[in-house]
Amino acid sequence: MVGYLCPPKEKHMKNRRVRVRFAPSPTGPLHMGGVRTALYNYLFAKQNGGDFLLRVEDTDQTRFVPGAEAYIVEALAWCGFSPDEGIGAEDKLPGGGPHAPYRQSERKPMYRAFADQLLEAGHAYYAFDTPEDLDAVRERAKQAGNPNWQYNSITRTSMKNSLTLSEDEVQRRLDAGEAYVIRIKMPRNEEVKFEDRIRGWVSVNTLNLDDKVLLKGDGMPTYHLANVVDDYSMEITHVIRGEEWLPSAPLHVLLYRFFGWTQPEFAHLPLLLRPDGNGKLSKRDGDRLGFPVFPLNWNNQETGETASGYRERGFYPQAFVNMLAFLGWNPGTNQEIFSLEALIEAFNLNKVNKAGARFDFEKAKWFNQQHLRLLPESELLQAYIAEASNRGLEIPSEDFARRAMHLFMDRAEFIGDTLDPADYLFADPRSYDEAMVAKKWTAEAPAYLSDLDSLFAQTDYTEGPLEACFKNYLAEKSFGFGQVGPVLRLAIAGTTQGPSIFTVMELIGSEASHRRIQTAISTL
Ligand code: GLU
Repeated sequence: MVGYLCPPKEKHMKNRRVRVRFAPSPTGPLHMGGVRTALYNYLFAKQNGGDFLLRVEDTDQTRFVPGAEAYIVEALAWCGFSPDEGIGAEDKLPGGGPHAPYRQSERKPMYRAFADQLLEAGHAYYAFDTPEDLDAVRERAKQAGNPNWQYNSITRTSMKNSLTLSEDEVQRRLDAGEAYVIRIKMPRNEEVKFEDRIRGWVSVNTLNLDDKVLLKGDGMPTYHLANVVDDYSMEITHVIRGEEWLPSAPLHVLLYRFFGWTQPEFAHLPLLLRPDGNGKLSKRDGDRLGFPVFPLNWNNQETGETASGYRERGFYPQAFVNMLAFLGWNPGTNQEIFSLEALIEAFNLNKVNKAGARFDFEKAKWFNQQHLRLLPESELLQAYIAEASNRGLEIPSEDFARRAMHLFMDRAEFIGDTLDPADYLFADPRSYDEAMVAKKWTAEAPAYLSDLDSLFAQTDYTEGPLEACFKNYLAEKSFGFGQVGPVLRLAIAGTTQGPSIFTVMELIGSEASHRRIQTAISTL
């Protein structure tokens, strides 16, 4: 298990196989923005014939949430792009791959050597300040009108660290087992520049950067050290991640430089914004905005609450993925409907927008509708039957189900939409639309229905003849459609909305139609 202690030999970046990683922290369910980050990484890897890794960044044990890792793996599998290597790829490669373990907490012993390397080169130092010391200095700064005190190249000169204490004193404290952290020694007043694939040149002066903790006294690295060391050790060529990590990138660039490693390319993806454009779409938005922000349902074990997911809401993974791909990128053509394979072809990391991508749930549903229409009838029918039996509806035959499904398919965004308004196809109406009854059910209605019922009984019970028979009746009596049509609809369906009532009558058959007409006559 010491293989990972030896970092790979530097090869020239240009000739290296593309390797990207999605590196979430298991602090809860994966937000849809996280899924988009994973997707862009996957698309980029696949279009370059490279590898897509999943690494779990769990160094902050205080934020660890049980079940979060399994959720992430399941969510990616549902979306159709499981990792080639790492967590969730154990079925493809022993231990997940040659750089196992892929969980940072399990890699803990390796980080110390890297921190030592920085200490020896003078790029890092020991800091012995206790949390109380830090609180006190922060408080004093606040009183003096500086609420944002930082441990940095200026303030470190008056703190308890190996830059201010004598060598003997530092050794004494270390020997005595005093608590310490290892901090980066940020150069003073230097420009750190790097080229981001999406944002172009980014330049930050080190005066604006603090001396971040790299390693804690218990040997656990912080995110920054672990992230850089692992990206290097795992031969990551491109770091594609959310915009919220852009402020950390200059520190990472410096770490690469201090270690003497070639840095990967960076691409910081735009934020996902709320539909009203007011701020970032966050995990905390949960279901408050009327739509899911997670791919799958998430049961919060602490609160007992369930946050809804796209899967359970009836979305197809291919529609969800298509929709996500378009949050921050588009192919520059009119084509909007893409399979995952087509996205691999068309995606272009250089064309990802800088500006935040506003999320639109209506558009998400539209994507689902488009993908629903692309499904083979047999698959739709299977889903329809499953959903109908979930709802306790009795399905007389597969042929009945097929015809019933098509009656409401036109505007359906989800398979459930074809069933929501369709109860009357499966059972006699349990109630009648009161407003329409008040408006359309006249004293003559029972007589009209009685006439029609006898005429229909002499007809072939299919849509065409039934409609012809109805029209003849209107013509003969010089009635308008409005006098009789809604009455018939109310009797058969309980509502005046819906597809052609003659199609419905053909589907449910003469017996049920006759019974419904008679029930309406006697009850309305
Ligand atoms: N662990 C970080 C996160 O939770 C990863 C950031 C990165 O990709 O470098 O998003």
